[in-house]
Formats: sequence, C-alpha cells, structure tokens
Amino acid sequence: MCGIVGYVGNRDNAIKNIIDGLIRLEYRGYDSAGISYIFDDKIIIKKNTGRVKNLENNLDFNTKSNVAIGHTRWATHGIANTVNSHPHQSGKITIVHNGIIENFDEIKKELINNNIEFKSTTDTEVACALLNYLYGLYNDFNKAIIEFQNKVKGSYAIAAINEDYKDKLFVIKNASPLVLGVTDYGNFIGSDMPSILDKTNKFIILDDGEFGILTKDDIKIFDKFGNQIDKPIKKFSGSEQSMEKQGYDHFMLKEIHEQPEVTKRTMNEFINDDINSLIDKMPDLSKYKKIHIVACGSAMHAGLIGKNLIEEFANVEVNVEIASEYRYKRNFVNKDDLVIVISQSGETADTLAAVEITNKMGVDTLGIINVVDSSIARNTKYVLYTKAGIEVAVATTKAYSAQVALLSLIALNLANSKNKINNDELINILNSIKELPVKMENLLNDSYEEIAQKIYNKNDIFFIGRDIDYSISQEGSLKLKEISYLHSEAYPAGELKHGTISLIDNGTPVIAIVTKKDIASKTLSNIKEVKSRGAFVIVVTTSDIEIEKSYYDEIIKVPTTHPLFQSLLTVIPLQLVAYEVARKNNCDIDKPKNLAKSVTVE
Ligand code: GLU
Repeated sequence: MCGIVGYVGNRDNAIKNIIDGLIRLEYRGYDSAGISYIFDDKIIIKKNTGRVKNLENNLDFNTKSNVAIGHTRWATHGIANTVNSHPHQSGKITIVHNGIIENFDEIKKELINNNIEFKSTTDTEVACALLNYLYGLYNDFNKAIIEFQNKVKGSYAIAAINEDYKDKLFVIKNASPLVLGVTDYGNFIGSDMPSILDKTNKFIILDDGEFGILTKDDIKIFDKFGNQIDKPIKKFSGSEQSMEKQGYDHFMLKEIHEQPEVTKRTMNEFINDDINSLIDKMPDLSKYKKIHIVACGSAMHAGLIGKNLIEEFANVEVNVEIASEYRYKRNFVNKDDLVIVISQSGETADTLAAVEITNKMGVDTLGIINVVDSSIARNTKYVLYTKAGIEVAVATTKAYSAQVALLSLIALNLANSKNKINNDELINILNSIKELPVKMENLLNDSYEEIAQKIYNKNDIFFIGRDIDYSISQEGSLKLKEISYLHSEAYPAGELKHGTISLIDNGTPVIAIVTKKDIASKTLSNIKEVKSRGAFVIVVTTSDIEIEKSYYDEIIKVPTTHPLFQSLLTVIPLQLVAYEVARKNNCDIDKPKNLAKSVTVE
C-alpha cells in the first residue's frame, strides 16, 4: 500500500532515481504522488494527484540533485488532492510518510495552541509540524526524532529532509515497512526491496522504533533511545526478472501462469520422494490441541481451504478468523493451541497486530509468508515461506496458491503424524504432488474468453459450492469483484434458499463449484433450484463427476487429483474467468481502483 523512496549519493540524478522507485511501487495502488529534492541549497517540492506519470510530466529531469525523497499516497486522512499529497513541509523539514498517526488530532490541537498553522487535513502534516516543533525546541534533530517517537502513536515509515543538513536523509520507522539499500554511489530507501532492486541487492532492514541517518557513503542506525546500533547488510537473492511482464499483457496473467512452477517450488522445499523430508523439515504441530488461522482477504480464503483440509485429513479442529476483527473481539485461544497467520507481504497491519496479541498471550505462532524477513516473519515462532517470488499484480493469484500448497502439506504432515494415512494413500499423494504442475499447465492452456463474453456485462454474479467448494467459491468471487468491479457473492450452495435465491433472475450468472463426488448430488439439487429461476449456470467440476446437460449452460472440467490438492486446480479457471471478464470491461487489471497490494494500515 502506497510507498516511499529516497536517495542520497554522489550522483546528481536523484530525481530520476526517485521516479524509478515510484514507478516500481505503482503496483501497490495509490492516488497521488510527490517528490522533494535539494536543488541549489533549497528544498523543492512537486506533487500531483493521479498517476506517477502526472508527476513525471511536472519534473525537469535535467535538474541536478543529490538528495531526494518521493511518495505514492493511498489517502487515509483527507481526500486525494494536491494539498494533501506528500511531501509535507513545516519550517525546514520536509517529510513523506506511509501509515497512520493515530493521535494526530490531539497533537494537532496542541500545535495549533502553539500558533502552528495547517494547510492540509492529513495526519502526515501534523507529524511533520511536530518534528519541526521539537527540532525548534531542542535544536538537536536526533533528540527531536527520539521525542517524536515517544509522542506519536500509530504506524509510520517516514523519510525526511532537513534544510540544515542538506547532505542527509533521515528515516524513522514503526509498524510500516522500510528498507535501506546500499550501493557504492550512494544510499537508497524504499518501502520494499523490489522498489530499489534495480539499484542494489544489498539491504538493511529497519525494525520498529529504529531511526537512521543516511549520507552518500554512510548509514547510521539508532534505537528508540538514540543509541547507535549495528545492523547487518543482507543480500537479496531473488531475480529482477520477476518484475517484468515477459510477454504477458498483464502481471496478473503472468502470475497465474507461474502457478505450476510456484506450487512445485513451494512444495519441493518440504517434500520430494517420500514423507520423511516433510517430517524433518516441517515443525511438528501434532502437540497442538486446536489451530486458529488468522488472515485477511485471499490469505484468509487460503486459510479456509486449510481448515477444510486439516479438519478432514488430520481430524484437528481449526478456527478461521478475519485479522481485522481479531483485536476487537474476545479470542478463545489456549496455551496448547497454535495460531497460524498468513500474509503474502508479511507486513499486513491487521495480521501483524494479531501476531502481537498472540505473542502477548504466550501462544505459539506460525507464519505462512512470502516475503523473507518481513515483519510478520520476524515475529512468529515458526515461519514457512511460500516460494511465490515477487507478486506484482494487486489481486493475488500465485501467492494464494502457494499458501494453499503449504496448508495442504501442513494437513498432510499432521494427518501422517496422527496415523490417518495408510501406505497406499501416501503413494497416491506423492504421485499427485508430482503430477500437479502438469495438470495445472493443462488448465492454463484452455480458453475462458467465451464464458467471459457471456457474463461480463451482468450486474450480479453468484458463486455456490459446498464444503471446500464453498471456500474456493469465496476466492473465485473475490477475484472477480476485485478486478472487474462486478458485484459478486459466494454462498454455501444450500444456503441460497434461505433468502438470497430471491436475487436470482432470468440470466443471472451462477458459477457452481462441484468437485466433491460424495456431496455432488446435493449441490446439483441446488443448481436445479437456481436454474428453474432462470439462472445462467456455469458448472466447474472435476473430470470424474458426470453431470447432465440440463443442469448447466456452460461447463468447465478440471482434472482430478488427490483431494488434498484439488483446490489448487479448481481455482485456476476461476482466476482466468475473472481476468477475462475484467479485460472485456477494460479494467485496470494489475492496479484495480481503490485497492492496494500490501495493506499496511489498519
Ligand atoms: N495517513 C497518510 C495520509 O493520508 C499517509 C497515507 C499513506 O500511507 O500513503 O496522507
């Protein structure tokens, strides 16, 4: 969500460096962009609403500057206009900020009482004014930052320039991500590694409460008390290539097509030819009485699949919670339970908050995370990394699949340790894992354009399914509405008649998922109910389930695999139908309106 970049160095192309970084952050979603740089010993600020392109058009790239900070904003406090855009300035200080200052109102009142005036309605301008006020008070910028951290509540990754220190960049971090990039021609800052990965693969990761001072050849990091600390420089080993579209029209399509490889990579990390590698490499979770899965959005939907699998195969009770609700409800978690949190970025604010609560309760946590060394990864007892690589499209596909793949291995490991799987079934499972990528590839080669043509202009689309098919329906429905902006809802198939069926009219699309043979006949009855009310039914089913033509208008056949992995196949046509529908509606598929990739605010 939104982003920060900064550069201080001996090259005078700071403006270009900032725009490069902001473009690389565009995938996160934002509504305006801005930059501030030192030119001729003065701080210059430029900002524009809309795309980074608008800001770019407002800049002169021949202007020589060695120090700059930039920002893409995703408004939380105040509308998306130029005044509210970052950078904000107060006295000699200019800042960009990601996050939310929770007590901004109270601080603003105090500052107004001290005759300080405000132009914008943002919390960020208040943070900037406070920093400037404290600097005036102590005449020592380090001390001002320490006091700032004591006073401010909330989440912030802040980059600042101070006119009194024209060769320095200042950074402050709490509960919003920030990394520092090291090169031999200067130092960078970025909200994530990809934003500056074209400049360097050497990073310092800041932890909460820390602040830093960067010059062209030096980085000093301090703890919240102002003591200088040593932080290691880490080398990122991922590839730059994953940031490019490689011939696909959209990152989302490229990422959907990467799923066979990603699933294979994620699973191969733990299991190859026999179960022993899984036992060795995965923590033994069999001692836990109950599992709680806490996550948001698609990660939560992956959690729902995990619940289906763990309960069915390992007979362990699983409770799935929405992370944004977790802080405000009574949670019945015991010391002998395990809390699994799932997040692609590892920075999802609500999920991170759930980890903090759980850690305080003294309950063990396990993170399923894509970004190595991210905040959640560093704060959970166990971490299992998905090997999805960098995901650029805002709507997740390959990271979701990698999460489901890991959850299926957790279910398998637990089932195995509880002796619920006999040798024949184990052989079947190991074969299924091997065959999975090829089956995924086959599905990716099918065309879903004709089906999209029949539904792309409808107002409401329903997804139905029972048991695990309902969990997959929820992800299919979310994918569709995220990128095509069509209204869509997922329902347990048997639940429709308790009210919602009144919304089914002549031609209303209903996408019915039927992959569980033992309950297929039940879902088929529900399909009949909607069909007789005029629904346009698209059935998604497996190759071993026979369904009469009278039940559907369109049918998508998915190969069968072991039930532990079936959803990894079933979700592919749902992702591709969503993609084709969005494409027909000319939507901005990789950057859907109002959405952000990594939701680092509450
Ligand atoms: N809360 C700040 C604002 O609304 C920062 C939002 C962001 O992270 O982009 O301006």
